[in-house]
Amino acid sequence: MPTFSTKSQPVKPVNQQPSMSTSYRIPKSDLQRLIELLRCDGYTVVGPKVEDDAIVYAEIGHIDELPKGFRNSQDPGKYRVEQTGHKNLFEFNVGPHSWKQFLFPPRAMVASGTREANRWTFETPPEQQPKFAFLGVRSCELAAIAIQDRIFLQGSYVDPIYKARRESALIIAINCTVAASTCFCTSMKTGPKCRIGYDLALTELEDGFVIQSETERGRSLLTTLKPDEAIDKDLEEARILEQRAVEQISKQLDTTNIRDLLLGNLEHPRWDEVSTRCLSCTNCTMVCPTCFCSSVSEVVDLTGDSVHRQREWDSCFNLDFSYTANGIVRNDRRSRYRQWLTHKLASWYDQFDSSGCVGCGRCITWCPVGIDLTEEVAAIRQPPSSNRMLPVIALPNATCVLTKETKE
Ligand code: SF4
Ligand code: SF4
Repeated sequence: MPTFSTKSQPVKPVNQQPSMSTSYRIPKSDLQRLIELLRCDGYTVVGPKVEDDAIVYAEIGHIDELPKGFRNSQDPGKYRVEQTGHKNLFEFNVGPHSWKQFLFPPRAMVASGTREANRWTFETPPEQQPKFAFLGVRSCELAAIAIQDRIFLQGSYVDPIYKARRESALIIAINCTVAASTCFCTSMKTGPKCRIGYDLALTELEDGFVIQSETERGRSLLTTLKPDEAIDKDLEEARILEQRAVEQISKQLDTTNIRDLLLGNLEHPRWDEVSTRCLSCTNCTMVCPTCFCSSVSEVVDLTGDSVHRQREWDSCFNLDFSYTANGIVRNDRRSRYRQWLTHKLASWYDQFDSSGCVGCGRCITWCPVGIDLTEEVAAIRQPPSSNRMLPVIALPNATCVLTKETKE
């Protein structure tokens, strides 16, 4: 644990309106005041809490619901949370949830039709979208929200559900002070320090928070909280804690020329190898904060008098996701994994002018067989070996044989 000087320094009282360029300090109890202010203002406050042995994002009304004292350990295919008894509220990393589920809901009704007197009427239901305040958004997650903004708001089609939720959402970010072994935000230049895209940003100290605002909404909340200006000791403590997270990040993704590397190696034998491990379960796409694929289906009631058009998250790992008039385009796991990785890290640049990966590590942790995209890219950087190992499959009543491709 880092140590800090306990020498007391005078608190600088705030005798004017808080400014966006200044850091302030609040006691931990003020987080409860902040939650109450937001709830009074009509926000549904969503933050981290422990449920089903994981730290997930859910509505919270009190700071007692935050994961105080919890830590997580993460590795490829492994996730554990444990209560260690420390006093901090945010000393863990991202879990299976992301903010995507609140801005781009997993299931949404996009149209409905009703039959009356042999006449059908269709409408887009005028649904009131919730007004969220997100508490505890990490730097990589701010980057993921910025990527989804580009997808849903800045193309030729603007998604009305995302737009309504995004415009009303208030973001309270938290700087990471620890890192999981699956984090690689430093490689993707998305963290761990929160730089843009928040209303308020916090760094959790031993006995309070350093807090900054970046928007007028954030500044106005600070005005109500009447914080003291942070003193040098607070800023030094915050700096040391933030640096601890940087130093704990061990995973790296070499992004040098990554677009051309992947698109220039579409026949690399590593795609065969990874296809023998990938289960095509879709977990990586479901937990990824930037994946945005969906499909629509018609849901008819039993009377046949009403129908809903429903949009649901979908995944490029699903067999029928690439179904076209001529059949399924990506009919083996090799092509589906390759599609996912080359889109995320290569053709995303052509489509959205950025990587589709923010280095959060969720797809590594939540892959049931522990496939790690950083290892896959590193393997593709190696020239194909002439003596490559081929996958082994067992046939009934036969010895093991080597096969060039494993078909489903
Ligand atoms: S690809 Fe994996 S590491 Fe990258 S943003 Fe998605 S879940 Fe996170
Ligand atoms: S890479 Fe892992 S998480 Fe993704 S589909 Fe394959 S087995 Fe599932």
